[in-house]
Amino acid sequence: MDWNKLAEALIPDENVKDLEYYEKQYPQRDLPQGAQVTRLAPSPTGFMHLGNLYVALANERIAHQSGGVFYLRIEDTDEKRKVEGAVEVIHTSLKYFGVAFDEGADLCGEYGPYYQRQRAEIYHAYAKDLIKRGLAYPCFCTEEDLEKTREYQTENKLLPGYYGEFAKCRTLTEEEIYENLRAGKPYVIRLRSQGDVEVKHTFRDEVKGEITVTENNQDVVILKSDGIPTYHFAHAIDDHFMRTTLVIRGEEWLSSLPIHIELFKTLGFRLPKYGHNCSIQKIDGETRRKLSKRKDPEASLTFYREQGYHPGAVRTYMMTLLNSNFEEWLLKFPDKPLDEFKYSISKMGKSGALFDILKLNDISKTYMSKLSEEETYDFLKAWADEFGSDAQKAYFADKEYLLKVLALCMGIGGKKRRKDFICAKQAVETIGYFFDETFSPKYAYKFDKATLTKILTDFQTAYDYKDDCSAWFDKVKAVAEQNGFATDMKAYKANPEGYPGNVSDVAEILRIATTGLSNTPDLWTIMQILGEERVFARLQKATACL
Ligand code: GLU
Repeated sequence: MDWNKLAEALIPDENVKDLEYYEKQYPQRDLPQGAQVTRLAPSPTGFMHLGNLYVALANERIAHQSGGVFYLRIEDTDEKRKVEGAVEVIHTSLKYFGVAFDEGADLCGEYGPYYQRQRAEIYHAYAKDLIKRGLAYPCFCTEEDLEKTREYQTENKLLPGYYGEFAKCRTLTEEEIYENLRAGKPYVIRLRSQGDVEVKHTFRDEVKGEITVTENNQDVVILKSDGIPTYHFAHAIDDHFMRTTLVIRGEEWLSSLPIHIELFKTLGFRLPKYGHNCSIQKIDGETRRKLSKRKDPEASLTFYREQGYHPGAVRTYMMTLLNSNFEEWLLKFPDKPLDEFKYSISKMGKSGALFDILKLNDISKTYMSKLSEEETYDFLKAWADEFGSDAQKAYFADKEYLLKVLALCMGIGGKKRRKDFICAKQAVETIGYFFDETFSPKYAYKFDKATLTKILTDFQTAYDYKDDCSAWFDKVKAVAEQNGFATDMKAYKANPEGYPGNVSDVAEILRIATTGLSNTPDLWTIMQILGEERVFARLQKATACL
């Protein structure tokens, strides 16, 4: 077989350059010793999974901590999965979480283009070289041929795929190949695998440690019939020429590792280090399963923006999943910037990371409680501008008023910060009662109408906006006494049946009447913030609704 002639017939010289050209065009990067070049290589499907952030954070930390480079490559070889605007979604959703690329798609960089579809020439040059070396060949098998092979293999319990005796086009004669070409039959280019599935090697995975890898024996497709490479082939060439040193990626790629090892070897490239991240799982009833794009809204990065989780909180939570010693560090240095944590691959989990939204909420509460009221204002406003209702957007018009609300709800100036806020959506909903437009009380009292009417009327007679906190409370006590409620808690506890209730029941009635809620921050301050007119209006409304 004249492989040179076949290579020229399939991929003419005018379409490609000599291989040395590419080596020169993409030289080794000039980086300090130990610096890692990492990447995120998503397909532009328009959907960003929590797993993308997980992998992105790991790669970003490793690159930046080592003085290296973190870049974005768009793996758009699968036309069917491509979605308009997907690259923007990648940038915006990751930027929200503070993950920024140094170079890559839609950014500048010397190692581009960073879209695989724009790199066809390099893939063709290397496919041509493999054909010349007799290590790749055209395959004319149709879908039906392949389907028949699959059926036969399934029936006979044989390893599926295109290999050995099933790799029919591997042994086509020169005449047969040219005849097929002349007949205009569509073809793909396949690797002529040199591997043997009986041979196993020990492989050092950066995350999983030593694993056993079986050699690849599949004649995988490297160029599809439209000349577009497969992911396997493209990624090997790209990681080589973009000078990637370390690939942290999802463990779903572990099964392809044998193919990748063979491809790098056959292409004469040095294999980067690989680390296969465990998948993110959740508890679903009795079982533990992978976080699913279809079933779980929290699998999508959009979810966190829509809910208004603070990016810092999500990042902190993700670090607890990513590095086993992170929580200990966080306890020791709760106020240090996250980037001061020394990230290490060796502390990454080897089996599934368990996603727990309650824990995220917990971390978020603490995170939000540490913000100032100004920071909280800005954060909530940004969320409301994008996702809030018109009424919620209007909360931000009177900044002074809102800052007072936030200071109260966050316990600023008090002994301890309150942890009422989890995310922007919930926070904005929580403060809804401070605004008449969203004040929609569902009064739920524990007393009868006559008692309530009397207490609310007595309080309205006694209330004076100018009273300080203690004068105000004296009046609440007076109203309690007028209505036979206990004000001395000791006496009340000794004889609870002797009273309709105690002073805190009276305070609760006033709280519900004013806010619609039985649980709020300090009621006197709420009334101060609401203002005299609004307090009376609310008490009247509550009385009228009895
Ligand atoms: N394009 C692959 C994906 O969508 C990337 C796999 C890798 O990182 O090597 O996940």
